[in-house]
Amino acid sequence: MKAETHFAFFDEGSKKEIRRAIMKAVAIPGYQVPFASREMPIARGWGTGGLQITLSIIGKSDVLKVIDQGADESVNAVSIKKLVHETTGVELTDRTEDADIIQSRHRIPEIALTKEQIIVLQVPTPEPLRGVEAREYITKRMHSEYDYSGAWLILFEQIMKYGKTATAADHPVYVNHRYVMAPSPIPRFDNPKIHQSDALILLGAGREKKIYAVPPYTNVESLAFDDYPFTVESFEGMHCHLCSGADVFLDELIDHTTGETIYQCNDTSYCMERMNENVNEKEKAEVEGSYA
Ligand SMILES: [Zn+2]
Repeated sequence: MKAETHFAFFDEGSKKEIRRAIMKAVAIPGYQVPFASREMPIARGWGTGGLQITLSIIGKSDVLKVIDQGADESVNAVSIKKLVHETTGVELTDRTEDADIIQSRHRIPEIALTKEQIIVLQVPTPEPLRGVEAREYITKRMHSEYDYSGAWLILFEQIMKYGKTATAADHPVYVNHRYVMAPSPIPRFDNPKIHQSDALILLGAGREKKIYAVPPYTNVESLAFDDYPFTVESFEGMHCHLCSGADVFLDELIDHTTGETIYQCNDTSYCMERMNENVNEKEKAEVEGSYA
């Protein structure tokens, strides 16, 4: 006999506790709310924080998309999708616009999200001040005292060393002019997408037992100095070799046959959509051409 699992894996008490933490996080944008992170059937560090949020908020009629570094089909994304699907029976999708909940590791999709959607980000290190202070009770006090000299110091040291702020990902942001927040290791390219986002953004760190949030239409500002303004990764003059997409986050690859450097959309579902559109347009042009 196979015992039936509870809907969305957790018992109702666990879901309630996590939802309460989410509500508090939404009420205090950017503030890290501690929660009783559960043991999950995947290892901590593999997205358990995001997964616990997803399982606590998902309903039977929701459609779920899971992305790992921009890809829908990587092992981590597939395993998470499988677990949620097997314990809820919800529909899964790759199409960003069809999803109600998008759980993501290290990226925000290229197409703009809507107010009907929730994006859940997986977070390894929720504390933006951890680099300057190892003790949790001190960083908590620094947040409460609005002491963010440490966060500025990290950026200042980067400028001294490299001549610019050198945060590749997880560039700290001010949320609602109050809390400095780690936006999870998304590239700087995605930071502007958090500002005044239509979608609710929930962030979960399973190992560090923290949940935090950016509610829709919240001001989010990337930390920068007046003389060293915040910049995003530039892909000027580059385009995707598959869909010829530009103005998106591109991965740099080496073409094994020619040895040349090529670029490809990091957001695989965006790339696929564009390729389908290109094919449709080509077919349409051919059909129209044959009638002319
Ligand atoms: Zn592409």
